[in-house]
Amino acid sequence: MSAGVDRCTTAPETHPPARFVLRRARPDAFRGVQLRNPGYGPYPYPSLTIAEAGPRLWAHEFPALVFVGTAVIDDAYVMYHEIAHQWFYAALGNDQQADPIVDEGLAELSANTVLGRGYAYCSSLRVDQPVDRWPAGHLIGEWMGCGGYFETIYHKGAAFYDAMRDRMGSTAFYATLRSLLTSERFGLITHDELFAAFEARTPGTRTVLGRFTNH
Ligand SMILES: [Zn+2]
Repeated sequence: MSAGVDRCTTAPETHPPARFVLRRARPDAFRGVQLRNPGYGPYPYPSLTIAEAGPRLWAHEFPALVFVGTAVIDDAYVMYHEIAHQWFYAALGNDQQADPIVDEGLAELSANTVLGRGYAYCSSLRVDQPVDRWPAGHLIGEWMGCGGYFETIYHKGAAFYDAMRDRMGSTAFYATLRSLLTSERFGLITHDELFAAFEARTPGTRTVLGRFTNH
């Protein structure tokens, strides 16, 4: 935890804006992140450590900690995605193997929202599938292709949440997430429980769900 590591304390803002801000503390060797509220409520930990971990095109989240490969540490999308995991799966947990749509879909939505990106996807598969739906021996291209894990869970998953946000309205959508972050804090939820919370807040959202799960 020396070279390549920076540590920042989060900003305490709660409302609005529904965004957080990436700042490089020392562009030469160190990177820092200062958070603002992404619409999910306050950052759940007293600090966040961004650790540069190897040269690879790789990043991974842990509570209050993100490992990022050198190849992507300057990529704002990667950073925003990984930081969003501090809310979804860290503050509000899920089974990341069985239920990746909960955390990966929401992390992707958050990154897209911050960056103003679109929600294109080409997968025809349902978004509520476990990681092991895709064989571990797949080549990277198969993971990234239209029938792949990333296209289905990340891209189509983000489009699903974006459509849900449109259907509910941003206020109700984020209020649902914030409510769960409070009531289930540091617990686990399933995708069924999350989708049920959307429906409870805004009746009729199952029509959105049906478009993305072929229900
Ligand atoms: Zn992720």
